[in-house]
Amino acid sequence: MIPFLDLKKVNLRHQQAFESNLRDILEKGWFILGSKVEEFEKAFALYCGTRHCIGVANGLDALILIFEAYKELGLIKAGDEILVPANTYIASILAISKAGLVPVLVEPEETTCLIDPLLIEKSITSKTKAILPVHLYGQLCEMDAINSIAQQHNLLVVEDSAQSHGAIYKGKRSGSLGNASGFSFYPGKNLGALGDGGAITTNDDALANTIKALRNYGSHKKYENLFQGVNSRLDELQAAFLLEKLSMLDDDNKVRQQIAARYLKEITNPKVVLPTVNDPDQHVWHLFTVRTENRDAFQDYLTKNNVQTVIHYPIPPHKQKAYQNYWIGKSFPLSEKIHRNIISLPISPVITNMEVEQVIEIVNSY
Ligand SMILES: *Cc1c(COP(=O)(O)O)cnc(C)c1O
Repeated sequence: MIPFLDLKKVNLRHQQAFESNLRDILEKGWFILGSKVEEFEKAFALYCGTRHCIGVANGLDALILIFEAYKELGLIKAGDEILVPANTYIASILAISKAGLVPVLVEPEETTCLIDPLLIEKSITSKTKAILPVHLYGQLCEMDAINSIAQQHNLLVVEDSAQSHGAIYKGKRSGSLGNASGFSFYPGKNLGALGDGGAITTNDDALANTIKALRNYGSHKKYENLFQGVNSRLDELQAAFLLEKLSMLDDDNKVRQQIAARYLKEITNPKVVLPTVNDPDQHVWHLFTVRTENRDAFQDYLTKNNVQTVIHYPIPPHKQKAYQNYWIGKSFPLSEKIHRNIISLPISPVITNMEVEQVIEIVNSY
């Protein structure tokens, strides 16, 4: 079987460095919010081109904490509306509702599956306070258009960069393209930990300071609590692993881009619709998604031919039971169509040329 993503192989490349970091941390005896977390935060801020990076427990918390911090700073209040793509991983939407805000779904552009700037403008009301563009599958949204709408309407822009570590938009990295950004270091992401992890990047000093307190019980100083915070911290061990892997992120993304370029050129089956790329730098190919009618038959065919695939995602958020009382009577036909037809082919920094060739051949013979 050609695996969809061989995480064991991805991480065994760093085995020695991981083991020596584990020994160092065992000997030091400091496990949470220590020097490794600080070192990683500095390195990741530098990498993204932002003044601040704050490590947290996971990507969902990263997004929630951004919204909670804006509430503490008085820029957003409970019940305000946040614009978010209708086709995203549910975490983007959960972050909004968990922070006591109202997710307003916006349909994507059919070609890129990214939030449609024209429809953003149509969804703005007097309650809209922010836009949450999701750089889905690793491709950056149209940030110039989104930022100019935000400026005109005095809205905040919070990037969901959980799938786009390292992608570059006109010289600037994902994470530096709005007012703040949430990252996930879930093991399968382009920069993945050996467990859960996340981070926020921003150039906003007040926001960064507030989030630093919120992630640690609302406390800047031990046993003094300014806010009703949470416990959402990055482990020293995960920070050490992430620092090791950060040095390889650009190379890994380059390999993903090379594989994607081959798929785009060599998959020629007219039954398979290839993804649309705005600009090669803007896509780091967290996922290589194609679309086809009779998606389930296509997936069965690939499985029978030893190509493992995954569907991102089978059910759109507005059809989930968790949100059955939201968006009643509204329909999001483009998102539904994407969810019906989409399927992800194997892509990773450790897939071999031979495996890529086999995938191409098998897809073309369908
Ligand atoms: C993975 C992901 C998240 C959530 O990250 P976790 O670390 O799993 O909490 C949020 N948004 C998107 C688009 C994601 O893909």
